[in-house]
Amino acid sequence: MLMLRRIHLQPGLMARHVSSKPGKRSFSLRAVCGAGLVGCGAGYLLSRMDGQLRERQLPGAGFRVCCEEMITPKQQALPNELRGIVGKQHVVENVTEICHVAILPQGAKTGITGGSVPRPCDRPMVVISTQRLQKILPIGDEAKQVLCFAGAGIFSVQETLKPLNRDSHSVLGSIFLNPSVAAGVAFGSGGTQIHKGPAFTNRALYCRVDANGQLKLVNTLGLNAHEDVVAFLDNAQALSSKDMDAKCTRAASWPKYPQHLTKLDGQVSRYNADLTGEDCNRSEGKVFILATIHDTFPMPQESKMVWVSCKDFATANHIKQKVALASPNCLPKQFEYMGREQFDCVDQGGRGIIKLIEMVGMSNLGTLWNFKLKFESLPLPFVNIIADKLLWYLNSAIPESLPKPLMEQGRKFDHHLIMEMTEFGNGELKQLDERLQRQLALNPGDISCYVCQDAFEKSRVMLFRFAVQPSIQTITVGKGRQGLIIDYAMPKNFDRILEMPKDCDIEMRCLCSHFGCNVFHESLMLSNDVDVKEVKKRIKQVIDEAGGKLPAEHGHGTEYEAPCSTQERWKRIDPTNSMNPGVGHSSSLKGYL
Ligand SMILES: Cc1cc2nc3c(=O)[nH]c(=O)nc-3n(C[C@H](O)[C@H](O)[C@H](O)COP(=O)(O)OP(=O)(O)OC[C@H]3O[C@@H](n4cnc5c(N)ncnc54)[C@H](O)[C@@H]3O)c2cc1C
Repeated sequence: MLMLRRIHLQPGLMARHVSSKPGKRSFSLRAVCGAGLVGCGAGYLLSRMDGQLRERQLPGAGFRVCCEEMITPKQQALPNELRGIVGKQHVVENVTEICHVAILPQGAKTGITGGSVPRPCDRPMVVISTQRLQKILPIGDEAKQVLCFAGAGIFSVQETLKPLNRDSHSVLGSIFLNPSVAAGVAFGSGGTQIHKGPAFTNRALYCRVDANGQLKLVNTLGLNAHEDVVAFLDNAQALSSKDMDAKCTRAASWPKYPQHLTKLDGQVSRYNADLTGEDCNRSEGKVFILATIHDTFPMPQESKMVWVSCKDFATANHIKQKVALASPNCLPKQFEYMGREQFDCVDQGGRGIIKLIEMVGMSNLGTLWNFKLKFESLPLPFVNIIADKLLWYLNSAIPESLPKPLMEQGRKFDHHLIMEMTEFGNGELKQLDERLQRQLALNPGDISCYVCQDAFEKSRVMLFRFAVQPSIQTITVGKGRQGLIIDYAMPKNFDRILEMPKDCDIEMRCLCSHFGCNVFHESLMLSNDVDVKEVKKRIKQVIDEAGGKLPAEHGHGTEYEAPCSTQERWKRIDPTNSMNPGVGHSSSLKGYL
């Protein structure tokens, strides 16, 4: 049932065997020595340059595919042992009984804080990939809920539900990489859909290791009782309402999120250290999620996407309050913010990725992305920058990604809002549009509004938004600088742009936001002289002081220290520290000793 992925750990150097054919040409000893010296010199220079480059912090640091430590003999023997086990029933029980290992649940590896990346540990660490647990079972004829196996991708869920006229629970900026449903729950991933709330459910099937080191299955799915729920789900081809326990009232999405969101008080809308809900939520790999049930949402009957540009942030914020968040019953589907530098960043570094998605399609991009990650982890000089350097140099040769009038508008204004207004049968679209028109009429010279003409233009706008993260990586590498991505939530009533700490040598500050939720993503290009970790610490302090929370939706992973309350919760649900040890800067030792 579960696929175990072998971890290949490579030492830093690769020995190369060179064969020479005798006879045809002969070299004098001096020529050979000379060539050898030149070769050594060039090799030394290259390795120094490569070393310096690897010391630089790139924004996508969390995309690492593995740790750099040498594999131990015990670890080396483990995959073979496990291979003999995979495929048998109750695989997970066997795994923990046999090896006393640390277990690292891994989804689609799109996390940007290193949460599913193997790391040094006092025990062998087994990565359990969920990528073969792909089943998606809409529940009942109306599919108002859906049961997803852990590795099912959010794009696949969306595609499965479309013919049933239902909308899926989660759309992230990484949807083109098909991140897994379970990881979404394990992080409390957020994304663009403001009326749905973050990935959250109290209906799940998951494993945890108890204080005696025994594996326990926790079932809060709310299905009718089955002797062996794992076997039942493995064999199920469909789920009807008869399979569901009608008395189960557990939430399968964040309760009353629209009401919570539109109350513009000093609380943040959502964040990773939130302790709400069943233990699987925001567990960051401290339990192993096998399957979850999620509410689905009605498909809009009609939708209208607008790109509103304004001269100042206050106007953007005014539109948020007076249009987008004016009523919980009438929220836009998406309400995203993009600052001018972010716009330029996508234009200057994102055309390649947008073109690529257009050419290969969303569903195939994941394969290419994983290929890029594998390539970048090869122990060869410069491999970690080649792809982005190429994208950087090719960028200007690729046509602009947005329709011409939108590109012109983008360059003319400093603050941009992307709003998708949708109709669900109660006049929501009309209400939102009327509110928007009123605001536009108030400041005609300071605001410009572009209405997407067709599905193609809408998809262009969304791709432009999705290219935010990859483009900062391309630009940072292209310009040979360091980079940092941070993700934080500000209180719902916080209506300014956060002031960055002084003297951080920030050369470019790209700001975008899931604006309805006041969750911000900053992509910073930094000079090569600064200590990126120090900058991150100082920014975190500024965010904390302003009442914000960092991280908001990308998880603590191995990048951020989780607060005490979160670490205490993780200790309670995983008392032996068998699962994802070291996450959120917690102890990586067995039993947390
Ligand atoms: C271009 C780009 C855009 C992004 N945009 C967004 C965005 O808009 N919003 C957002 O929230 N995130 C975003 N992300 C981050 C990322 O896509 C999400 O965090 C996503 O949910 C991770 O899913 P994954 O399957 O790749 O998980 P992985 O990266 O493989 O793992 C993430 C964490 O989940 C845990 N985990 C995985 N599977 C399980 C399981 N079965 N049981 C328990 N724990 C498990 C892992 O141990 C790890 O701690 C973006 C990333 C990229 C690269």
